[in-house]
Formats: sequence, structure tokens, C-alpha cells
Amino acid sequence: MINHEIVIIGAGLAGMRAAIEASQSADVAILTRLHPMRAHSGAAQGGINAAIDPDDSIESHTFDTVKGSDYLGDQDAIAILTSEAPRDIYEMEHMGTVFSRKDDGRIAQRAFGGQNFNRCCYASDKTGHLLLQTMYEQILKHNIKLYEDWYVTKLVIEDGSVRGVVAYDQISGKLEVVRAKAVIVATGGAGRIYSVTSNAHICTGDGMAIVFRAGIPLRDMEFIQFHPTGLYGQGILVTEGCRGEGGYLTNNDDERFMKKYAPTKMELGPRDLVSRSIWTEIKEGRGIDGKDFVHLDLRHLGKDKILERLPQVHELCLNYIGVDCITQPIPIQPTAHYTMGGIPTDAWGESQAKGLFAAGECACVSVHGANRLGGNSMLETIVFGRRAGVKAAEFVRSVEWQEFPDHAFSSEQKRITEIMERKEGEKPWTIRSELQDVMMMKVGIFRDGKEMSEALQKIVELKNRAKNICVDDKSWLYNTDLVGALELQNLLLLAELITLGALAREESRGAHYRNDFPTRDDEKWLKHTVAFYDEINPRLEYEDVTITTYQPEARKY
Ligand SMILES: Cc1cc2nc3c(=O)[nH]c(=O)nc-3n(C[C@H](O)[C@H](O)[C@H](O)COP(=O)(O)OP(=O)(O)OC[C@H]3O[C@@H](n4cnc5c(N)ncnc54)[C@H](O)[C@@H]3O)c2cc1C
Repeated sequence: MINHEIVIIGAGLAGMRAAIEASQSADVAILTRLHPMRAHSGAAQGGINAAIDPDDSIESHTFDTVKGSDYLGDQDAIAILTSEAPRDIYEMEHMGTVFSRKDDGRIAQRAFGGQNFNRCCYASDKTGHLLLQTMYEQILKHNIKLYEDWYVTKLVIEDGSVRGVVAYDQISGKLEVVRAKAVIVATGGAGRIYSVTSNAHICTGDGMAIVFRAGIPLRDMEFIQFHPTGLYGQGILVTEGCRGEGGYLTNNDDERFMKKYAPTKMELGPRDLVSRSIWTEIKEGRGIDGKDFVHLDLRHLGKDKILERLPQVHELCLNYIGVDCITQPIPIQPTAHYTMGGIPTDAWGESQAKGLFAAGECACVSVHGANRLGGNSMLETIVFGRRAGVKAAEFVRSVEWQEFPDHAFSSEQKRITEIMERKEGEKPWTIRSELQDVMMMKVGIFRDGKEMSEALQKIVELKNRAKNICVDDKSWLYNTDLVGALELQNLLLLAELITLGALAREESRGAHYRNDFPTRDDEKWLKHTVAFYDEINPRLEYEDVTITTYQPEARKY
């Protein structure tokens, strides 16, 4: 059996930031299903927020985030995020991140949606890639142990405290136990629940699902962000930085339609509002040539600016859809992008179970509430990744090693071997694509009770069918078919929670918009949803939102 004081699941920005901190005083290992440089964090283009300009303020960043969250974010946690942002940005800079610069040498900042100041620090349109590179260099520098191509399938909690994990080492083909005093879950988001998404193929919400199965509730899962500008037909992200640099959205009448929906902020309204506006244009027949996309027009920015500030966007558009954004408008449609909910933690990443921590997109601190502001999530990974690392290291100093229960391994071995040995049954990918379609059609940008009830019925049917899935590949070596089957179980579990939470929440708030309850209802619904595990019927409860400074008011842009 392998032992490490702290096991971190995931080598994205959050996992690596936590590891760098914790490794200063504890024995740390990172388990990751992919090489660190392939984490989804590396796809982030636009930038990372921090009030570092003398004319900006922490208060303004805090207020923009609270308002962006539609008042569902916890204000004490948001204040920590925004006040620690400048130190974390400078720390990343000192570690070696090559930020773009202003003429006077300071870190360049661009406009991002829903904010009153141009506070999004960036490195061209490859900010996530460069931050991830910096973090990986630090991991190598600190000699932190990495288990690459290890796919974690189970978290083991006994008598309320963490004992370790079970993982499938894809290279050796073995199931392994890694015993730990503390586990930090940093597995990222779950965009792959939807058929059109900006998320990488591995964003299947594994960490949230394994934590949930271990008996820890999840918070606010109904809040899924759709990013306004995904490449039409692909879902691949075209960064908000395009609009930050001055890009327009136009409909079939060549009209900048955002003036109807967000007269002050126009294209730089918050993401929930801009996504709904695009979808409304499409539904009302003003999509380009009657199809379900509109245009993002960058042509007036000129070739030099596009190639300097948005080179990756230029390349993506050319490679994926053959559009040259210097001379042609980009066809775009909203794409499932970000999981606001997740594993509930305090501002030190600690969860309910002793020794269990979470950070990054899989966690819900909650700083994004019902709608995340662009640029705040990479910030969350480094601020709360660092904090989780500090606290986990402190925690392991204070506790003794505990036994890893044998039954926890044998039951997992049985679950996985059963899938491998089953000779007949449905293929995981057929169920997966039916799930993605129903979530996209019925639990997407616009929702209503009838459609969501139908979706829930379908999910229950798919859950039952998934009990008899069978994989074609019977080898234990790097079996992606098997991993697909395990991912499917996770996707189904989370899709059910999203739908249940959304069906129960009879109001509209942030990214959760109901045609049948179109207004926000603070009296009944200014509260977090908390979902508890049950194999058949997960149960929902509610928790208060922490309000310190800003009382809820109407959200206008
Ligand atoms: C296209 C795109 C653009 C974005 N642009 C921005 C932006 O400009 N600004 C911003 O602030 N935010 C942006 N975001 C959001 C932000 O990038 C992510 O929320 C954030 O980077 C997530 O980091 P993370 O460390 O939590 O997870 P990730 O970077 O997703 O890393 C997850 C890690 O967990 C590992 N893992 C997952 N499951 C398992 C398992 N079962 N076993 C073992 N390992 C596992 C993976 O291998 C990976 O190493 C963007 C997101 C996308 C998709």
C-alpha cells in the first residue's frame, strides 16, 4: 500500500497550487488522470481578476462579484477572494508567469463582463496555459511526487474521517490504494454533462461525484454557467476577452442587440444575461440566416490588435471552422462552461469530513453564487488552492495515521470488475450522449417545470440502464472504455442533482432562469441548496447565505 500524508486529486491550477504550499511541511503526492500541462486550466484564455490598479479597489471587486453572483455568493468568502487577489497575482508573477504588459511595464489588464473596472490581468489570450506552466515548473522544482495517468475512482471516509483513495493506475492496469491523512480534491468542473460545452473531455465532475458517494453533500449544483460565445457547432470557447477588447455581438439584422438587454454594459454584461439575450435573439428568429447562432464581430479591431491580443482565437476559428476573424465575423452560440456549485468548504478549503479538503472549480466556497464573473475562477484556484494547502499541512501535523478499511477496497474492486466482466449490455457512450442531449434541451439556459420533470424521468431511466453497461475493451491496460463507464456513473449522479435542485428552486437567479418563475424571490430562495446522497432519491436541504455588507437589490447592467 502507498502512503502519503496528503493526497491531492488533480493537477490543474488548484491542485498544483495546494501542493506547492503543503509540500513545505508535509509529504504530498498528486494523483492525476492526465499530465499536469493537459489540465483544463490550460484552456483558459481571457485572464484573471485582481484589483491591482491604484484607481481600482478591493471593495469594487467585492461588490461586482456579489452582484454578479445574484447575491447568492457568501460575502465573507468573496471578501477573502478579492482582498488576497493582488498578493496572489504578484506571487504568480514572481514565480515566473509572463503576463502581458502596459507601456509603463505594469501588468496589463482588460475589461471583463459584469465589472466596473478593467481588472482582468492577462497573458495574451493564453493566460491559463502560462499560469499552468508556472505552476508545473514549481512542482518540478519542489520535487513533488506525481502519479500521472492515475484515475481516482473512490474516496474513502470512515467514522467521519478521511482514510485515502482507490485509483486505477492506467499504465500498470492495477487498482491501487493510496492511504492518506488528508485528501484535497481539485478535479475541476463537469461541463461534459451537456452536449455543447467549452470544457475538455475530462471535465466529468469526478471529484464531486466521488465525494458525494462518500456521503458528503454537494451545494448549489443547479447553477451551471453558459458562456455566451462558444464556436457554433463546436462549443469551443471564444474568450470574453474578445468583447473586453471591443468585439460586438450582432444578429441577422446586423443590429448590436445587447442594447436592448444591457443598455449600459452592452456586450460586457454578465454571462448569464448575455447568454440569455443571445438565445432570445435566436428563438425569436434573429439568428444568422434563421440558424441558431449570432455573430461575434472583431473585424473593426484590426489585424494588428487581433494578432497581438487574441492570437489563439484567430487560430481556433481558422482551424475549427475555417473563419478568419480578421476579415469575417465569428458564428457563436452559448456553451455550457462552468459549475458554480460543488463540494462545500469554508474559506480554508475544509469540508465537513475530517481531513477532506477541496479547491478550484469542484469546490463551492461559495464565491460565485448563482453566476460567476469571468476571470474570478482562475483567481479562486490560486487563492483557495493555496489556503487549502496551508490548512491541510496544519491538519496532518495534528492527527495520527488511521487504518485503511479492507472492505473499502474490496467493494470498489467488485464494482469495477463487474463492469469489466459483463459480457452483454449497453455501451456507456450511448447513454452518455442521451444524457448530454436531454440536459442541453431541458435543463439548459432557459428552464421550466414541465421540461425539467421530463428530464428527471429520463435521467432515472438512464441511471437504471447504466446498471448494465458493458465495455468492449477487456484489457486492464490503459482502458479508456472502462474510464468512460466510470465517468458515466459520475455524470448521471451530478445531472440528477442539477435537475433536482433546479426543479425545486422556483425562482430565477443568476444562471438559473425559469420561464415559469421569471423573477428572483429573495424571501423564499435567498439560500444555498444542499443535496444529500441516496442511491435512489437524493434529498435536498437549504442553508443560509452569508451577507455581511451588501443587501440584495435589483440587478441591472
Ligand atoms: C475554455 C475555458 C476557458 C476559461 N477561461 C477562463 C478565464 O479566462 N479566466 C478564468 O478565471 N477562468 C476561466 N475558465 C475557468 C477556469 O479555467 C477553471 O475553472 C479552472 O482553471 C479550473 O481549475 P481546477 O484546478 O479546479 O481544475 P482543472 O484545471 O480542470 O484540473 C482538474 C485536474 O483534475 C484531474 N482529474 C479529474 N478527474 C480526476 C480523476 N478521477 N482522477 C485523477 N485526476 C482527475 C485532471 O487530470 C486535472 O489535472 C475557463 C474554462 C474553460 C473551460
